[in-house]
Amino acid sequence: MIDRPSPNYAPRPAGTDIDVLVLHYTELPLKESLDVLSDPQRPLKVSAHYVLAEDGTLYRLVPEDRAAWHAGRSYWRGREALNASSIGIEIVNLHGDHHDYPPKQIEALIELCQGIIARHPAIMPRNVVGHSDIAPQRKVDPGLRFPWQALAAAGIGLWPKAGARLVDGDIQQALQRFGYPPPTEVAGSEIVKAFQRRFRPQRVDGEADLQTRALLGGLLDQLGGGA
Ligand SMILES: [Zn+2]
Repeated sequence: MIDRPSPNYAPRPAGTDIDVLVLHYTELPLKESLDVLSDPQRPLKVSAHYVLAEDGTLYRLVPEDRAAWHAGRSYWRGREALNASSIGIEIVNLHGDHHDYPPKQIEALIELCQGIIARHPAIMPRNVVGHSDIAPQRKVDPGLRFPWQALAAAGIGLWPKAGARLVDGDIQQALQRFGYPPPTEVAGSEIVKAFQRRFRPQRVDGEADLQTRALLGGLLDQLGGGA
């Protein structure tokens, strides 16, 4: 791991539990990514805890006990402004809808995430999210080609279980039960699309069809009584 400190951070508010892990793609090559994420002059200052290069090299920009500025306006499971309680990883990829993530990079990512989760056990599987999950009105990263299922198989985040009862009734209520924001800033179909981006990237159409309802059921089924 290479330390490459960024000045763009804030103290975590007192008593904050680190309980969310947010995955991003950079949309920029490595060098530009590191520059932007440590530039104190930009009108909108941004950063992340880690940047992961395509060859698996890991850069640490902000220590985990400080808040990095990666999530922006965001929402998950009833909470907003998730920078305070989250860890953010920027994965170098120009656009995860169009470019695969190299296996070496994903291997390194899995190792990094497993370490983070071990250090912060409050990051339960349902709290491992993509930027597109927590800001569906404006973000699509980490993109359609991000291997969420492989991460879930390595204990990082959830993947729908087959054979669960499908969600009937109000799809938005069910999406909110999993964590998604209510459709106050965008149409409900945009929230469905955010869900599909992650769990059914083959067809992102915003339709709450039977397969979408089955996938969501297969996630909610894993949450137990507290869902
Ligand atoms: Zn992002």
